[in-house]
Amino acid sequence: MDGAGPATAAPVFILLGPPGAGKGTQARMLSDTHGLTQLSTGDLLRAAVSQGTSAGRQAQVVMEAGGLVSDDIVIAILHDRLAAPDCAQGVILDGFPRTPVQAEALDALLANTGQRINAAISLDVDDTAMVARISGRFTCGDCGEGYHDRFKPTAAAGVCDKCGGTEMKRRADDTPETVAERLSAYHAQTAPLIDYYEAKGVLSRVPAMGAIEQIAAKLSRVVTETTTQLV
Ligand code: AMP
Repeated sequence: MDGAGPATAAPVFILLGPPGAGKGTQARMLSDTHGLTQLSTGDLLRAAVSQGTSAGRQAQVVMEAGGLVSDDIVIAILHDRLAAPDCAQGVILDGFPRTPVQAEALDALLANTGQRINAAISLDVDDTAMVARISGRFTCGDCGEGYHDRFKPTAAAGVCDKCGGTEMKRRADDTPETVAERLSAYHAQTAPLIDYYEAKGVLSRVPAMGAIEQIAAKLSRVVTETTTQLV
């Protein structure tokens, strides 16, 4: 990441919101429609856990308890991932930053490459609905498409609509107890970032309790508007 930035700075978007707000689903849709690379620190950490790396071993205990992994570990993982060639087309950050320290580290990383944040988009949801949303969700183990027992079932039971895969996965930390911990970590450590980005003049708020496609359309408009502004 060090050195001179690209001639045209690649756009950077952040999705903020509590667990269950739909960050992963919406980031995937935006990455398809706008050619952005989705960077999910949750996915990167889960990959480190399954590879059994030293960072993964440290992260696993914290993730299982619903807490936040240490800033040092997460920032190092994100730093390495941002340097990959596919990030040159622009990124959508899903689940990072989650603390003020991470937000400042991101500012410093982007300053090194002459990039800035186009928009930090807060998915505004009703907290009380999040436990129900999270408890029924699952993903296709082959293509990563997200589903929900009640809100977005597969057309044929156990078969992915998108790729036909039949191996469905549920996250180990999607239990009601862990979700309560994750929500309280969000309010204590991540929600203050809404003010942080508002003060920087890059915050957009999107009501995110409705149909997935309608929310996606609103997010897409924010991405288009804030990308054009910078060209
Ligand atoms: P997610 O997939 O975004 O819901 O993240 C799953 C879990 O990974 C969280 O509950 C945290 O334990 C950990 N995690 C993901 N991203 C971060 C981050 N930016 N900072 C600290 N912990 C994180």
